[in-house]
Amino acid sequence: MGSGVQIRRINFGLKQKIWTTITIVAVIAIVFGTGLTYYLYEKFYVEKQKETLVMQGVKLQKFYHQALNKEEFKKRVQWTDASSDAKVIFTEDPMVLSAGIPFDELAEKNLITFDERQQLLAGKKVIFIREHPRFHQDILAVTIPLLKKGQLAGALFLYMPLAEIYEPFTSIRIVLTVSLLLLLAVVILLGLKMTNRLIKPLKEMETISQKMSQGDFSKRIEVRQTDEVGNLASSFNTLASSLEAVDHKRREFLQNVSHELRTPLSYMKGYTEAILDGVAGDEKAVRKYVSIIHNETGRMQRLVHDLLDLAQLEDDSYPMRDEPLPFAQLISDVVERFALTAGQKGIKLKQHLDEDIIVNGDSDRLEQVVSNLLDNGIRYTPNEKSIDITLRKEDSYAVLAIHDAGPGISKEDLPKVVDRFYRVDKARSRKEGGTGLGLAIVNQIVRKHHGELTIKSEEGDGTIIAVKLPLYDE
Ligand code: ATP
Ligand code: MG
Repeated sequence: MGSGVQIRRINFGLKQKIWTTITIVAVIAIVFGTGLTYYLYEKFYVEKQKETLVMQGVKLQKFYHQALNKEEFKKRVQWTDASSDAKVIFTEDPMVLSAGIPFDELAEKNLITFDERQQLLAGKKVIFIREHPRFHQDILAVTIPLLKKGQLAGALFLYMPLAEIYEPFTSIRIVLTVSLLLLLAVVILLGLKMTNRLIKPLKEMETISQKMSQGDFSKRIEVRQTDEVGNLASSFNTLASSLEAVDHKRREFLQNVSHELRTPLSYMKGYTEAILDGVAGDEKAVRKYVSIIHNETGRMQRLVHDLLDLAQLEDDSYPMRDEPLPFAQLISDVVERFALTAGQKGIKLKQHLDEDIIVNGDSDRLEQVVSNLLDNGIRYTPNEKSIDITLRKEDSYAVLAIHDAGPGISKEDLPKVVDRFYRVDKARSRKEGGTGLGLAIVNQIVRKHHGELTIKSEEGDGTIIAVKLPLYDE
């Protein structure tokens, strides 16, 4: 047919979608986290160092004005230089001051710009981060002017290589990188586990539903979670089970129907062939064959009729009349119709009916119930015995009990006799014309009348079949 080649579109599956989301979120979180750490470090740590430098500088500036002599001040400067992380330089060389290189004569470039020097001259502090002209490393520096009578007499220069400031941060950076990598690994691992847990049942459902569409209802999903996906999986299993049950029933039904039809059809075929081939012989034999064919046709007709009936009764929307009926009257009408058949077997039909009982229901259907039950009773009761038909009130129910003197039904068979096509003695009931649908129909009708069908039987002591129907109430 040429349709074997399947074009697979590259589709973004659920797994990829979840993965992309997780990855994007993780990357954003990591980038943001790193940025924030750098920013906070810069803001608090570097700022703090700057403040310390300024503080030290301001302290020295104060001391400059208080000091008794220059030597004392220089000592103090040296002491600060030695005892802190900062490098402290003091100069009062007017040359250096005007050249703007207060800390290193050897530098080729001026560290302090012209503008900044103007600021110093105005008595303002100058703070900057800049490359050291000689050591070629970034430094954080604070320059503090020392004024005497409004003149710039000297300057204090405090600085720190930036690398030193950032040094503690390098170790933090390693910890940060390692923990971020670990975090990433955990996110990826958890993500992988989670998506697999999520996707697996869905994938299974997909496979199983494909199998189901091909008629295989036997597969189930293993339910591992209690979340929505788990619930979906167990609902899916329930669905599969009911579909399987329906499928099983359907097959069984078809099997039963074809089995029931096969026997009469083969009889009919055999006898018609015998007649056509002239094997039948004289007219008497032909008549006999035709009568067999007639019987089998009748049997098939009954079967089809009963099946249709049952199908309608099993349909919940099938209408059922609902009117008050004198139940005793209805029963004795049916009993009268069976008088002849019963008489032929010498069976006595004894009625004990409460005439006052009125029930709600469909008279044709209830007649069918009584008729099917009596038919069974007479059919399965030996000659010359009797059948008791009792109708009485029990609470708000009418109870019709038909007690025969037949062979009874064994405990194993009891629950099954109401099933479609179920017959205790297959060969015997076939001979007697039964298809095993009678009690199934009775059960459906009683159910539709909100009643109850109970069968009590002791093997050898006959059977009591009781139909319990709600009494009519205004
Ligand atoms: P039909 O469809 O013609 O009624 P059937 O009588 O075989 O056929 P059911 O009426 O459904 O089918 O009964 C099912 C089976 O239950 C019977 O084949 C029979 O074996 C058993 N059974 C029913 N009623 C009695 C009874 N009163 N005594 C003993 N066995 C019974
Ligand atoms: Mg029957």
